[in-house]
Amino acid sequence: MYGLMQEVPLTVDSILRRARSVFAAREVVSRRDDGQLHRTSYGEVAARAERLMGALHALGVRPGDRVATLAWNSHRHLEAYFAVPCLGAVLHTVNVRLTREQIAWVVRHAGDRVVLVDRSLVPALQAALPDLPSDLRYVVFDDDGRGAAAALPGALDYEALLATAAPLPALPVLDERAAAGLCYTSGTTGEPKGVLYSHRSTVLHAFGCGMADSLGIAQRDCVLPVVPMFHVNAWGLPYACALVGSKLVLPGSHLGGDALAALLEQERVTFAAGVPTIWNLVLQSQRRRRRDLSALRRIVLGGAPAPRALVEAWQAECGVPITHAWGMTETSPVGACTHAGSTGLAPDDPADFTLREKPGRPVPGLEAKVVGDDGRELPWDGASSGELCVRGPWVASAYFGIAAHEAFADAGWFRTGDMATIDADGRIAITDRKKDLIKSRGEWISSNALENAALRCDGVLEAAVVARPDALRDEAPVLFVVARDAAAPPSAHALVAWLGASFPRWQLPRPEDVHVVDAIPKTSVGKIDKKLLRRRLREQQP
Ligand code: ADP
Repeated sequence: MYGLMQEVPLTVDSILRRARSVFAAREVVSRRDDGQLHRTSYGEVAARAERLMGALHALGVRPGDRVATLAWNSHRHLEAYFAVPCLGAVLHTVNVRLTREQIAWVVRHAGDRVVLVDRSLVPALQAALPDLPSDLRYVVFDDDGRGAAAALPGALDYEALLATAAPLPALPVLDERAAAGLCYTSGTTGEPKGVLYSHRSTVLHAFGCGMADSLGIAQRDCVLPVVPMFHVNAWGLPYACALVGSKLVLPGSHLGGDALAALLEQERVTFAAGVPTIWNLVLQSQRRRRRDLSALRRIVLGGAPAPRALVEAWQAECGVPITHAWGMTETSPVGACTHAGSTGLAPDDPADFTLREKPGRPVPGLEAKVVGDDGRELPWDGASSGELCVRGPWVASAYFGIAAHEAFADAGWFRTGDMATIDADGRIAITDRKKDLIKSRGEWISSNALENAALRCDGVLEAAVVARPDALRDEAPVLFVVARDAAAPPSAHALVAWLGASFPRWQLPRPEDVHVVDAIPKTSVGKIDKKLLRRRLREQQP
C-alpha cells in the first residue's frame, strides 16, 4: 500500500513544540497565593518544562512512572502538565480536597514516585505521611522559594531544582497509545476509580476542544479555567489552549466569587469554564459590585445540571451567554455541549434557553445511545429514558488497575451511569444520575428536574433534592434550599405550591420534607454532595 498520509504520532510533545514555537510570546497569567499576578509566556513555560524533565529524570523518573501533583491552577502546574508526559511518565493529578486517607489511598494505588505539591497544600501531605510510601520524593511549588524548608522528608524546592537542572540531550520517543495522565473520579457515588488518558486521547480531545461546536476555543481567546487542574485536566483546557494559542489565566487558590469576577475583568477574559456553583458565586458577586465583563463571550458550565434560572440570569444581567456542557472523568471530559444561538436563535430567546436545558448533541468525535435495563437501545424520541452510553477516541476503555468493570461490559461502549433521553435531532437530555433518581411507587422522579424548578422560585439561591425511604411510596423526594435572603426565606408551603405548577402531585415533596438550610454541602469539585445529604437525612439532621 502506498500514497497514504504521514503517521505522525498524536503525542503531548507535539502540543508543547507548537506552543514553544508559534505561541512563544502568548501570555500565561497565574494568581499567586498572596493574590499578586505572575506573568509568563508559553515560551518560558516550555523552557522550564524542559528543565523539569531533566530534573525529574535525575530524580529517577522513567517512562511509565507516575508523578503526582497536588496543586491549584498555576503556571508551575502547567509546566508539570507538559514535562511529565513528555518524559514518557504519567501525570497523576491528585484532588486537593481529598481527606488524608484518600490522598494516601490514591497515591499508593497509582504507585506515584514523586509528588509536586503547592506549599499551601503541604499540610495535607504531612497529615497523610504515615500512610505514604517512605521512598516518595517531594518537590514543593513555592512563590517565594522557601519550598525546601517544607516539613516533608527530603523535600526539594521546585525553583531551586529548575535553576540547576539542564534539559535532557534527547527526549524519549513517545508512543501515542502510552499513558499521559491519570485522574481519579471524585467519587460522588462511590470509591474513586482511576482513568488513564493516553497521549492520543489527550491530543484528540484538545483538537476537539477547538471545534466550534465543541468548546470552540480559539487563538483570540483569553481562557480562565476555574475548573481545577487536579480534576479531569481542567476539562482539557490547558492542552487545548496551548494547542490553539489562547492566553491562559490561572486563578490559583482564589476561587471566591469576588476574586474570580475581578480576574475576569482585569485580564479581559473571553472564555471561562466551571461548575454551576462557581457561576452562581460570581453572579452574586456581580450583583454586589458590577465589574466590566464585556470581553466575556462565553461561559462554559458543566459537570452538573445547568439550572435554567442561572443561565437566564447571566444573559439578562451580565449579557454573557452560557454554554451547557456534559462530561465525565471517563470522557476526558467533554462529551456534549450546546452554545447559545447554535441554531440561529438569539441567545435571549426563550426557545434558546429551552434548547440549553439539554447538554445537546454529542461533540464531534463522540457517539451516544441510551439503553434500557435489558441493555437494548432505546428510540431517539426525546421521551424514552435509559442509561447513556458513549464511545469515541477520548472515552475510557477500562479503569486503572481494575480488571473488569460493569461500565465497560457493552463492548466498545462506556456506560455512564447517567439516565438520559435522546431526541430525534440527536440531542441528549440528562434526566439524572442513575443513583440519584427517586423511585416513587415504581415510577421515577428526576431530582434534577425538581431542583431546576425550585431554583426558579423567588428567593431561592441553591436547591438540592434527594430521596428518603418512604413506607408507602418506596422513596419520597426531600428538598433542601438555601434562601437568597436568610432574613426572608421562602416558606415550605410556597415552595411546594410553586413546584405544583409544573409537576404532578405524586412527584412533589411534602412541606415537611422541605428544609431551608444555611448551606448545601459540596463535593471536592464544587458539586452538590448528595451522598452527604442522604447520610445527614439518615442521621436525621438536615
Ligand atoms: P463524579 O462522578 O465523581 O462527580 P465527574 O466529575 O466525572 O465525577 O462527574 C461526572 C458526572 O457529573 C456525570 O456522570 C453526570 O452525572 C454529572 N454531570 C456532568 N455534566 C452534567 C450536566 N451537564 N448535566 C447533568 N449532569 C452532569
